[in-house]
This record gives sequence, structure tokens and C-alpha cells, in this order.
Amino acid sequence: MTKKKEKIYRNLLDLSLDGIYIEDQYGNILDCNLSGHEIFGYTKEEMLNLNVKDLIPYELIHTFPKIIPDDMATDKDFIERINKKKDGTLFYVEVNSKFIYIDGEKRFIVFMRDITERKNLEKNLIEISLKDELTKIYNRKYIIDQIKNEIFLTAYNNYCFSMALLDIDDFKKVNDSFGHLFGDEVLIKFSNIITKNIRETDLFGRIGGEEFIIIFPNTPLKKSYGILARIKKSLNSALWEKRDFKITFSAGLTQLNYEEAKNFTYKEAIKLVDDLMYQAKTSGKNKILYSK
Ligand code: GH3
Ligand code: MG
Ligand code: MG
Repeated sequence: MTKKKEKIYRNLLDLSLDGIYIEDQYGNILDCNLSGHEIFGYTKEEMLNLNVKDLIPYELIHTFPKIIPDDMATDKDFIERINKKKDGTLFYVEVNSKFIYIDGEKRFIVFMRDITERKNLEKNLIEISLKDELTKIYNRKYIIDQIKNEIFLTAYNNYCFSMALLDIDDFKKVNDSFGHLFGDEVLIKFSNIITKNIRETDLFGRIGGEEFIIIFPNTPLKKSYGILARIKKSLNSALWEKRDFKITFSAGLTQLNYEEAKNFTYKEAIKLVDDLMYQAKTSGKNKILYSK
């Protein structure tokens, strides 16, 4: 290539916001454009002393072969990958690559785009669509989907799950006495107390104003009752912003086995715990009623 042409190409490459690399078959970086080293926070000199394995998190290094095989080239398809900057920050990239021969030598050319911003947006959207805005626990839609899912799993795997519906007692009075904002704080703290008392695998969501559902996957009634009793105790000893303030809840709890799961819709499952919760309310509140 003439010097003039080379200068034009170099300028074009450096204008690209994508990182562009030429590597040998062992992943050694032979050349890159301006974005190619800036994305990673290296100088060009530093970059040209690196191997692609220096640009991926330690845990993923084993996924990279010693010699880049032909089928690792994506050609026209972008693949997503996690890379590592000079300062250790991990970030998402989209990669498109191809093998070419330059002066008889096999070379790997790679286009790489930082997609961290898009990934974060996606994560936020998922978060928004699953979570309740006020309490940050799961929302009604998600928890109903999970009930359907548990019913399905139980019907096909012959195991059981428990499910509880909790309704805060006399919550209207909380709002009437202390204001809606304090009521909101109570809902948040109530949710936090429950989250602390359930297990990582349990699913907890808000299905209405002051009504909550907890799903205990693969858990018999005795165990889930124990967890609810622990929540009741924690709530009883919780300290609130207002002196002598206390809240209690009424709950309906049930265990669903293979037989029920085969015949129940999620609506029937909810009706079961809702009826029990209602009985708890009409028989004096602040209690957990269960059926097996
Ligand atoms: P019970 O013991 O029978 O459950 O009585 P309750 O007062 O808890 O039940 P009721 O259904 O009469 O009232 C529920 C109240 O919850 C009324 C409503 O204003 C309040 N509420 C619903 N959602 C919210 C919310 O997001 N924030 C606040 N502060 N209050 C809410
Ligand atoms: Mg209610
Ligand atoms: Mg209530």
C-alpha cells in the first residue's frame, strides 16, 4: 500500500468508535485503532504487547483456546462478551471477527463495541418490569407468574411448595393516624423485615396495597409455618419511628402437593390462601391460619 493510502486508512480506522484489532492466531494483538486501546484504558504501545487473554476476566480465560480456531470467527454475526479494562473494570462488548490472510500470514481481525450502556438499560428495564416501585420487592405480575411456575413444577416433579398471603392488620388506621407517607414507610420496612427472614430461594411480592404473597418452593407447611412465625416475632420486636407503634398481620398459608398442582389454577391457589387469611381477620386478626 502506498504511504498516502495507508494514511487515509489509518485515519478512517481511528475515526471509528468501535475497537478494531489485528491479531495473530495465538491472540497476540499486532495492531489496533485509537478506540481499540482507549476502550480498555491502555496506550497503544501497551496494547500491542498484550494478548486477548489479558483483556478478559480471569474466570473466563480457560474458555479461550491457545490457537484461535476457524469457527471462532463470527463473520457477520455479533457475539456478546465480557472484557476487562486496564483498571480491572469489567464491561460488555459486542464482537464481530473474521480470518483473513495478510501477506500469506493468517490474521484474525476483530471489531469490538462497548455495549455497557445498553446492557445497563436492559437490566433497568427488567428490574422495572419485575419489581414493585415502592417496596422494591417483586410486583403482582411477577409473583403470579411464579405461582404458575411453581404449580407447573410441582405437577410434573411430584414435589410440594407452600404459599402464604399476608395482609397488614388495620392499615387504614395507620394512614389515618400518621399520614400516607408514614404508611408508605411502614410498607417498606415491613417488606424489609420479611426479606430478612426468608431464604434466598423464597419468592416474595406485593400483590395489592398492603397484601403480600410469599412462595416457598419445595417446602412443606411445617417449615414455612416456622418462617412465618419468625416473621411475626421479628415484627413484634421491630422499632419504629413513632413511639409505641406496632403492626401485625393476618395470614393464610397452605401447602400444595402434586394432586392439587395437577388440578389447580393459580387463581384457585390464591383463593385458598385468601379465604384462610379472611378467616384469620374475622376471628380476631394477628394470626396465621393454615390448611393442609
Ligand atoms: P384489615 O385489618 O381488615 O386488613 O384492615 P385494613 O385497614 O388493613 O384494610 P383496608 O382494606 O380497609 O385498608 C387498606 C388500606 O391500605 C387502605 C389504603 O389506603 C391503604 N393502602 C393501600 N396501598 C397503599 C400504599 O401504597 N401506601 C399507603 N400509605 N397506604 C396504602
Ligand atoms: Mg387488604
Ligand atoms: Mg389490611
